[in-house]
Parts: sequence; structure tokens; C-alpha cells
Amino acid sequence: MDLKEYITIVPDWPKPGVEFKDITTLMDNGEAFKYATDKIVEYAKEKEIDLIVGPEARGFIIGCPVAYALGLGFAPVRKEGKLPRETVKVDYGLEYGKDVLTIHKDAVKPGQKVLIIDDLLATGGTIEATIKLVESLGGVVAGIAFLIELTYLEGRKKLNKYDINALIHY
Ligand code: IMP
Repeated sequence: MDLKEYITIVPDWPKPGVEFKDITTLMDNGEAFKYATDKIVEYAKEKEIDLIVGPEARGFIIGCPVAYALGLGFAPVRKEGKLPRETVKVDYGLEYGKDVLTIHKDAVKPGQKVLIIDDLLATGGTIEATIKLVESLGGVVAGIAFLIELTYLEGRKKLNKYDINALIHY
């Protein structure tokens, strides 16, 4: 199955000059969504992981079905102020200014092998911050899986210590 056929390119969104990759047209097709999930599950099985971690919000959509399929837990990474208990946090750079990502302090146990999942790798800033959170809790990042990689933004360079798997490339 060519998953790229299910991604819709939206020109000039959210601002002029950006070609947004809309994954909702993959998600709302049961066959394509299952195929993509199964592919990430195959990758996850190779990595023998203990836990899946994903950043909000589309990391939840891609990560949770993989966690379910493997009978593993899923730990959410969220913007500051969204998680109810004690968290650790990290600042990360955005195109304009900064943002903060957080994870519950007890979400990852020391030594746990973690697979990080998000919908899309662009500059790599979101995943770099997610890695910092996991590692600050003693987790070991065994792999990182995306639906889409925007190879021309070279986000991979930031993540060169890690094993990365993406199903669709632009
Ligand atoms: P990065 O931190 O620059 O790698 O940006 C990745 C984050 O931005 C991911 O969590 C994506 O959900 C989001 N993102 C950036 N560009 C797109 C896009 O074209 N489609 C969907 N999400 C995007």
C-alpha cells in the first residue's frame, strides 16, 4: 500500500509558504490507518521495548494503537499545565519563541526501553525535547517512529544518536 496517497497536502497552511501534510485523510481510512499502525508495530517488535511515549496531540493518535497492539503502556508528553501530577519539563525552541513540554515524573522507570512515536518529523525540535524528558527519568530511547519524515528539513541530523523509522518521506 502506498501510504503517501492518503496524505493530503494543504498549501499555505497554517501560513503562506507552508505545505502542511494533513494525516487526517489517512486516519479516517480504516485500511490505511491499520496498515500504518501494523508497520510501526513491526518496527517496535524488533526493538523489544517496554513503553511507548508520544507528544501531544498527533503522537497520541499514532502511538496509542501501537501500544494497544503490543499490550504496552503509553505515556503522554504534554504542554505545560496539562498533566495533573508532578512533572519534569524541558524548554524547546519553536520558529518564533519557546515552548515547554512535560511528562509525569513516574511515567518512565529507570532502565525502561522506550519507543517514541509522533506523526511527523520536521526540524526535530519536538522529538529532541521528548528524548530529553525520557532520558532525564532514566529511560533508554530504543527507537523513534514517525508516520512522515520531511527529509529536506534534516531533523534526523539532530537525532543522529538514535534509530529512526519513518513510513512516508518527502
Ligand atoms: P518539529 O519539532 O519541527 O520536528 O515539528 C514536528 C511537530 O510539528 C510534530 O509534532 C507535528 O505534529 C507538527 N508538524 C509540523 N509540520 C507538520 C505538518 O506538515 N503536518 C502535520 N504536523 C506537522
